[in-house]
Amino acid sequence: MNLTERDRQYLWHPYTQHKTAALPIAIKKGKGALLWDENDKEYIDAIASWWVNPYGHSNKFIADAIYKQLTTLEHVLFGGFTHEPAILVAEKLMEILPKNQQKIFFSDNGSTAVEIAIKVSLQYFFNKGEKRTTIIAFENAFHGDTFGAMAASGISFYTQAFQGMFIDVVRIPVPVKGLEQESYDALQSVIKNNNCAGFIFEPLVQGAAGMVMYQPESLDILMRICQESNVLTIADEVMTGFGKTGKTFATDYLVEKPDMMCLSKALTGGTIPMAITTFTAGIFEAFYDDDINKALFHGHTFTANPTGCAAALASIALLQTNEMQVNIARVNQSHLAFQERVKNHPKVVTTRVLGVIFALEIKTESSASYYGSLRNKLYDFFIENGVILRPVGNIVYILPPYIITDEQLQKVYQVVENALEIV
Ligand SMILES: *Cc1c(COP(=O)(O)O)cnc(C)c1O
Repeated sequence: MNLTERDRQYLWHPYTQHKTAALPIAIKKGKGALLWDENDKEYIDAIASWWVNPYGHSNKFIADAIYKQLTTLEHVLFGGFTHEPAILVAEKLMEILPKNQQKIFFSDNGSTAVEIAIKVSLQYFFNKGEKRTTIIAFENAFHGDTFGAMAASGISFYTQAFQGMFIDVVRIPVPVKGLEQESYDALQSVIKNNNCAGFIFEPLVQGAAGMVMYQPESLDILMRICQESNVLTIADEVMTGFGKTGKTFATDYLVEKPDMMCLSKALTGGTIPMAITTFTAGIFEAFYDDDINKALFHGHTFTANPTGCAAALASIALLQTNEMQVNIARVNQSHLAFQERVKNHPKVVTTRVLGVIFALEIKTESSASYYGSLRNKLYDFFIENGVILRPVGNIVYILPPYIITDEQLQKVYQVVENALEIV
């Protein structure tokens, strides 16, 4: 039996209806932006393996750092203990995060990073003796699949089976072009009519919604509205963090600074699961007390895993090299040129680019379902042609590793252009 057949015996895959889905592709090897399957077919990983891998697969610099850490101190519990890799990650983040972020809390994945931010915003007011239990989130947001994160998520595909079982979340429109005022008004009215604890958002780009983009000026206005009523702001940078938008963090485009930030995905260069939630000093102070009940009773067994920390440090070091910054700018320029080339194509409704993120919407007769037939047809076409892209409904987006070569990038563009002819 080959790997694909053996997989079918025991494995259950994410976001997969096993009765109708094609069998998974068994990948044996990766290098740079390329992956090879068990039949030695080559693929360009044009979505950086779900946005985690900016520096290339099997990166030797990160792998060496991991090996060194594994053979020095692979793991130690973080309750009552600490270690230098965690301290170094914290010190490094203090250099690159918005200056108001002063405390960092480790976990394992994007959903837990969000879960922690939501719990902290609720407990923050509990600790202060104020009754505030509503969380504000954008329509079509995606913040993860654990219960709190899922409650904040607005893509019904992910949440429909659990309606009525969530914490209290109120949704406002995303301030995309033309809907800015509606979004501000909605936020104002939500804050007026509810006891709001926090506002969580994907800054500037809603990834899972199909790389939906909006302007920093609009987010600044929304954040100011929150600040006026002391509603805590949570920037979920799980997707946007570490260079994807062209700056280290999407919040670097803002004037206002969030109270909390959620980081994961590219944090360790796509090597080891790790996440971080960051906080202002003011939030930490609300938990700092003689009363043990005011502490944050949240933790995960692998919190601050030293090996993950070593991977994060190596990854951030790579991000900060001149070479990587040049790569980010190169991919961005290349996307802009491709945008010029396709934006007037009769099958293209709209295109958008920010940093290394490119998206285009394909014209459809009726509205395309998230995992509908158009999406599947496109996906199969890309795979056949050796390019890994996962369209969202009628939206095709590219979010490649920063080190993708010009030649590989041109091949991705060509395959996307060819796909427009088959729809
Ligand atoms: C992927 C993602 C998450 C969830 O992260 P997981 O590691 O998959 O749990 C949360 N927020 C955003 C913005 C994401 O893109």
